[in-house]
Amino acid sequence: MRLLVLKFGGTSVGNLERISNAAKRVIQKLKEGYKPVVVSSAMAGETDRLIKLAKEIDPMPPERELDMLVSTGEQQAIALFAITLQKLGYPAVSLCGWQVPVVTDKVHTKAKVKKIGVQRLKNLIEEGYIPIVAGFQGVTEDWEITTLGRGGSDLSAVALAYALGADCEIYTDVEGVFTADPRIVPTAKKIPLISYEEMLEMASLGAKVMQARSIEFAMKYNVRIHVRSSFNDNEGTWIVPEEEVMEKMAVRAITLDRNESRITVVRVPDRPGIAYQIFKALGDAHIVVDMIVQNVSHQGYTDMSFTVNKTDAPKAEEIVRKVAKEINAQEVVRDDKIAKVSIVGIGMKSSYGTAAKMFEVLYKNGINIMAISTSEIKISCLIEDKYGELAVRELHSAFIEEGQEVEVSNAS
Ligand code: ADP
Ligand code: ASP
Ligand code: MG
Repeated sequence: MRLLVLKFGGTSVGNLERISNAAKRVIQKLKEGYKPVVVSSAMAGETDRLIKLAKEIDPMPPERELDMLVSTGEQQAIALFAITLQKLGYPAVSLCGWQVPVVTDKVHTKAKVKKIGVQRLKNLIEEGYIPIVAGFQGVTEDWEITTLGRGGSDLSAVALAYALGADCEIYTDVEGVFTADPRIVPTAKKIPLISYEEMLEMASLGAKVMQARSIEFAMKYNVRIHVRSSFNDNEGTWIVPEEEVMEKMAVRAITLDRNESRITVVRVPDRPGIAYQIFKALGDAHIVVDMIVQNVSHQGYTDMSFTVNKTDAPKAEEIVRKVAKEINAQEVVRDDKIAKVSIVGIGMKSSYGTAAKMFEVLYKNGINIMAISTSEIKISCLIEDKYGELAVRELHSAFIEEGQEVEVSNAS
């Protein structure tokens, strides 16, 4: 009998009726002969609600306490899930992260999974129970509760599937991974098969359907993931190794990320060591920096801009203000009204003219580009937030709806 991890996202457990539907899906899998392990997110909106409460007290709440607070969202959901299954006549046991245990490092709010104990889960399954595990949570070696970053229940599910040698299904509120967010682009198409590489880029660039770190984990440990709807039985999207994806599209999908802020250090002396001082301080505070732009220097001075996640922005600004004083920069400016629009595709490696076409689409819509960054399989442009959705729609129309040449790989 195959073990199967079924992960339900916030919307899929958003109220009691939805929890009941999710529970019935688990029962159906049980009847099909699987041994199910459920991973649940908090009920829709709960994590945001808790974070907002903490921020009303302190805009930068202590991260240990924040983890203590937000982890309760998942604890509520798993208990309700287990009560539902028991009421339907199926033995189920809810477990918090520490009860599994999902052991992590000590970096609160974005902890990394270090070790997973599976004995308790295996014993429960052996005894005929359905374990319902709280997503998003972990525990440090000294018993502190941690969380795995926003969207972290995806990572809990993938990591558990790996540890148990189970299949992994992610149930969400869309039918799979689309060529763009279907809420922004109604004509977006479901992608039947996508490589880890492309999915990782998409996730890192704002397609919140899967958490980026969960894909990193899946890629490293070869966990195949099926993303599908919790509202119907349709086949969703399979996330698999690149060799299995025959069609290498230059542009597979368009993404939009509105979760970043730009910080500019104005009039920095242009001498060696300045970038090091700024980014070392940010790195020491565990802040992930994304795009970095340094302007051409004028009379020995230059401007340096970079983007960080909006949640890290106040902390990053505070840190950079301190460094700015030490290095005699003129001022530090923060801009929250920015968006990053990107095109992603593994076929980009061997196609040309893609960047020019992207810039043309933005130009024809009167959208100014503030920064550009590229990798082998993506091009991102930083633009004003108010143009974000327009840019996604126009790029989708130019690259996906109008078709593109398909390059057939040699892989068998
Ligand atoms: P869950 O609560 O199930 O984890 P999320 O809200 O985290 O669900 O992710 C699902 C959402 O991701 C969808 O409702 C959709 O709006 C958004 N999304 C963004 N980009 C994409 C994409 N390319 N394909 C599918 N969904 C996307
Ligand atoms: N509840 C957490 C969040 O909203 C984790 C998750 O849903 O995956 O980020
Ligand atoms: Mg999610």
